[in-house]
Amino acid sequence: MDDQVSLSMREKTEKLKLLALDCGLSTKQLLEHRPFDSVQPGICTNPGCDYTDEVEPDQANGFCAECETETVASVLVLAGLI
Ligand SMILES: [Zn+2]
Repeated sequence: MDDQVSLSMREKTEKLKLLALDCGLSTKQLLEHRPFDSVQPGICTNPGCDYTDEVEPDQANGFCAECETETVASVLVLAGLI
């Protein structure tokens, strides 16, 4: 599987934590809770940015309205589930 997002494992884990927090869930709950809906929560992968949005499940470069870059990745991409 290609690594679509250029973050270290630790950074990805941090992003997943932020995203879970945003959804009011633990990281584990976040991953278990969302099997394969057509829309998934996503988060900007830039350092220090915690912009979140709803994105396609396989989105790896969605638009971040704060950074104005294409850096929003879905939870599934971040977790390496697809
Ligand atoms: Zn951003």
